[in-house]
Amino acid sequence: MLAQRLERLYRVMADRRVDCLALMPGANLFYLTGLRFSLSERPLVAFLAPDRPPTLALPALEVTKAQRGPFPLVWQFFPYTDEEGPTVAFRRAAQALGIEGRRLAVEYLTMRVTELALLQQVVPHFDLVEAEPLLSTLRMTKEPEEVDRMRQAVRLTEAALQRVVDSLQPGMTEREVANRLWRAFLEEGAEGLAFEPLVLTGPNGALPHALPGGHPLRPGDMLIVDCGIVLDGYISDITRTFAVGEPDPEMAQIYQVVQRANEAGRAAAGPGVPAQEVDRAARRVIEEAGYGDFFIHRTGHGIGLEVHEPPYIVEGNGLVLQPGMTFTVEPGIYLPGRGGVRIEDDVVITEAGCESLTTFPRDLRRVG
Ligand code: ZN
Ligand code: ZN
Repeated sequence: MLAQRLERLYRVMADRRVDCLALMPGANLFYLTGLRFSLSERPLVAFLAPDRPPTLALPALEVTKAQRGPFPLVWQFFPYTDEEGPTVAFRRAAQALGIEGRRLAVEYLTMRVTELALLQQVVPHFDLVEAEPLLSTLRMTKEPEEVDRMRQAVRLTEAALQRVVDSLQPGMTEREVANRLWRAFLEEGAEGLAFEPLVLTGPNGALPHALPGGHPLRPGDMLIVDCGIVLDGYISDITRTFAVGEPDPEMAQIYQVVQRANEAGRAAAGPGVPAQEVDRAARRVIEEAGYGDFFIHRTGHGIGLEVHEPPYIVEGNGLVLQPGMTFTVEPGIYLPGRGGVRIEDDVVITEAGCESLTTFPRDLRRVG
């Protein structure tokens, strides 16, 4: 599987006249080599070029781990000790790769000034190319095994969410609910959380990315829970909105609108459909209900190894959806000072249309 990914990578690099690709610790490195490293103050850069052995400039203490990597890549190592520092190792790596005067793709979203400055110091002239567009053409279309992993991640998320929702009581704070989610996810077998769970109640729900705080669950308020986990490297990202006790009539009506927008977005998604059409379909429902000004974000984002990755489901994105693409459909309405509603599903484009990996019920449920 990884060998095929590398073959595809080298073809895409040739098409775009990229000589060498530099990868930081993170999703792209994992995707292409199976190596998982965390970002630290010690620079670690992997270099992939079709005409050279895969090359790693890295702290000496990480060499054994890289040698034992899950993939039988024969790495060329350029290690450095803490005493030496990285400069000499990076210079030797750059010479071995022949980067001077060539086109080097780097991850604009991940490479830090510290690595870029190091490269510029040891290679006086090279052309910098943005690696993300090239890598997203590979990663956007998931292999069946990747979709299976995401399906497992969603299933686990839903089981934990169900447990926590069943245990909610009025008076619990957002923070307490978030802590229960953490615990339930880890107990269910998640290897980690994809992001800090968002648990927002009452007026806080109108701030799509606020952090859970000391607000208690109060009857009449809406409760937004947005959460996801990591399983075998792949993530889930699910939002459900609940009514604490008897819902406020307008919020209950808004809920119906968001539910219909979510349905419309999923119904519009399919192979051959431009990404922006999914956004339009969901947005139209909210606009026609008179809440267009209160749907303040794109309809969705790609998911996979990262929580936000292409394809983005947004006006202006004409990218044509293909079988195997995975993304969220998450329309919302946010009324400042009052609260919000969001319903977020994880979907995969199939030959026939669009399948929701998320199966958690979407009808408005009362909790507490
Ligand atoms: Zn989410
Ligand atoms: Zn999301």
